[in-house]
Amino acid sequence: MLMKISHSPVTQHTFEGRAFFLKRDDQLHPHFSGNKARKLMALLELEDKNITHLIGYGSPQANSLLSLAALAKMKGWQLEFYVDRVPWWLKDKPIGNYRMALELGAEVIAVSELTDSELHPHDYIQAHRLDEGCLLVPEGGRSPIAAQGVTMLAQEILEWAHNNKEESLCVALPAGTGTTALFLHKHLKANGIEVLTCPCVGGKEYLISQFEELGESCFPTVLESSTKHHFGKLYLNDYQIWKALLEQTGVEFDLLYDPLMWCCLNDWLPENQGKTLLYVHQGGLVGNESMLPRYQRKYGV
Ligand SMILES: *Cc1c(COP(=O)(O)O)cnc(C)c1O
Repeated sequence: MLMKISHSPVTQHTFEGRAFFLKRDDQLHPHFSGNKARKLMALLELEDKNITHLIGYGSPQANSLLSLAALAKMKGWQLEFYVDRVPWWLKDKPIGNYRMALELGAEVIAVSELTDSELHPHDYIQAHRLDEGCLLVPEGGRSPIAAQGVTMLAQEILEWAHNNKEESLCVALPAGTGTTALFLHKHLKANGIEVLTCPCVGGKEYLISQFEELGESCFPTVLESSTKHHFGKLYLNDYQIWKALLEQTGVEFDLLYDPLMWCCLNDWLPENQGKTLLYVHQGGLVGNESMLPRYQRKYGV
């Protein structure tokens, strides 16, 4: 019997003088946590005796690698995770999501070492790894299967809002593919709850095109920061926001997505004094293990 992974707690904090609530999806499970756990929840509940291998692809540092590894372990599947290449320093000293995924039994496979042609991991899988017994998950869990788990998250938020008689509630969460924000919005808007997000990968137009690809036509509110941002790059301002959050709330946030959302919220909140904010903590903390040394090296922080 698998334990049910749901109903993360909601905690209360203050940041820069403003009180807010925090949905603790970082606490769903030690390794299967955050929004990747929500997006993959349908697969955790899947009963299919024919499946032996879980197939994924993306960056060897991705948060999704860790959650897929944890999922595979819980299900007794072998995870094969295809990447372009694994940098030598990472192979040499595994750290962060890559380290933990290996410890959970994942196989991380560099496509550059399998073929001479410059094949994208997705295309390699299409050509060689769609065998019987293999279950393929799109990069970042950007898939309609995510709807089931995110709907559960929406229901938990609605229940909480009802029990606490919260009115004028806004829910904020940063977007990569935007899958989580989109499906949350779909369920919360009918209950008068606004969902706020910001594009961490590409800009607003790209995020909207991602929303459209998931077959929806009504979107969450997209906030944008005034300064240009490239995904995965280091910005001193991001680190400073992350550090201030840690000091003022006692909660560790993710370093890749959360600082940008809070940067946008720092502009948005003063203009929306009457609203109650519920921020969704989407996990990613094992990834900080590799982000923090990068910040230390670059800025001496
Ligand atoms: C993957 C991830 C996101 C982005 O989620 P999407 O559903 O792709 O928008 C945000 N925060 C963290 C910590 C993540 O791991």
